[in-house]
Amino acid sequence: MIVFLDYGHGKPGSGCSAPGFDEATDSLDVGQLARNAIIGSGWPVNVIESRPDCLSTPPLSDRGEAARDAGADLVISLHTDSSPDPREYGPIAFSMPGAGQIERIVCASWLACLARPGLAYDEHGRPHVIPIASAGQHAVASPDHKNWRHRAFLVLQHHTTIPCVLFEQGRCTNTIELEWLVSSSGRVTRAEAIRSAVCAALLSRGEIGD
Ligand SMILES: [Zn+2]
Repeated sequence: MIVFLDYGHGKPGSGCSAPGFDEATDSLDVGQLARNAIIGSGWPVNVIESRPDCLSTPPLSDRGEAARDAGADLVISLHTDSSPDPREYGPIAFSMPGAGQIERIVCASWLACLARPGLAYDEHGRPHVIPIASAGQHAVASPDHKNWRHRAFLVLQHHTTIPCVLFEQGRCTNTIELEWLVSSSGRVTRAEAIRSAVCAALLSRGEIGD
């Protein structure tokens, strides 16, 4: 399987930002952590990166074409969100309207790692670091999570034939979540969630066993 990992945005400042946090830099850093974890898993996966560093800025609208040229079987676009309401927090997975089985499984597995209500977040909105579930659990994660949405994002809409998801990993405007986003444990957990999503896709395609 070929996975196109899109490290959202480009130069620092081209995405959203908060004190001590820059979305463009973070998506590259966490995305490369995830890439290394995926490669280290020894799965039959080839990971293609959308950009090599913090200086390159391929337009978001070109990334679908790059994924198609790479022969990608799955596109994962990494982002972090901001909100005018600082109380909002939590990850959101997006796929195109009419998305298929692979996107459903990938989004559900990623959310299962980050956003299980009552488990991943406490009553103050503070994320817990939870153990990553086994591969078998990923494959049966609930698809009807409230944080799974359909929308035709710019980066998604030019290559509708490739299964494609966009992950908003949290809201940098929530001070509690920001603390987690910039922490090393938060970064590792986010990378592991991306790895788990890829694992779920491989399971679903029958390319690895339980
Ligand atoms: Zn973004």
